[in-house]
Amino acid sequence: MNMKSIVNQAKAEGRTLLSEIEAKEILYDAGVPVARAVLVTTADEARTEADKAGFPVVLKIVSPDISHKSDVGGVKVGLANGDDVAAAFDEIIKNATGAEPDAQIQGIAVQPMAPDGTEVIIGMTTDAQFGPVMMFGLGGIMVEVMKDVTFRVVPLAERDATQMIDEIKGKAILEGVRGQPPGDKAAIAQAILRVSEFVEANPDVQELDLNPVLVYPDGIIAVDARILLAE
Ligand code: ADP
Ligand code: MG
Repeated sequence: MNMKSIVNQAKAEGRTLLSEIEAKEILYDAGVPVARAVLVTTADEARTEADKAGFPVVLKIVSPDISHKSDVGGVKVGLANGDDVAAAFDEIIKNATGAEPDAQIQGIAVQPMAPDGTEVIIGMTTDAQFGPVMMFGLGGIMVEVMKDVTFRVVPLAERDATQMIDEIKGKAILEGVRGQPPGDKAAIAQAILRVSEFVEANPDVQELDLNPVLVYPDGIIAVDARILLAE
């Protein structure tokens, strides 16, 4: 489904939060590397899709009422075989309905597990004065504790994207510390630009979060995506 039909469907259902699956399809079309996910509604379907995706896989809750999936026990990573997948399916449903009894559950997302990499965040928020603003930072503890993030007003030029990466305090982490290979800064800059172009072309999008994006010596991949539409 393309952007327009996904947005129309969400609006028809009275939703402003797109599912991870919807957000990733849209961003894939926009040229952003993502771990694409498939929606399933039974443990058997989860097994079939995991086989297709290739092990290991990750399963996650899909609900318009749950935006922080791991907070409710809604994410299971490193599932190595069909039995693990079926068990994780049941456990995620149990965890999510236990934590959020009123949440509407659409199903479970099945996706390939990306290898370990440096976690970064690419995001967009809409500022009352400036309109869409791009955000970049290191993921995990670096964003939560250190607030090591940087911002640019959309639209961005290539130079802006490169500068964003170079101006975070923890940039050494992306340049290879303690024998670690450097991360692919060019691929990060390209993704920031693709997201900037995407939000510029789609004023319906109010907020966007790719958290985390995993960075490798050669390439990157967004393993979580969140898009919030304007009311
Ligand atoms: P949340 O809604 O809690 O932010 P995420 O989708 O970000 O849920 O998943 C939680 C964590 O699980 C991520 O920060 C990442 O470390 C890991 N993870 C999620 N999806 C994948 C994936 N496809 N491959 C590898 N790791 C993943
Ligand atoms: Mg996340």
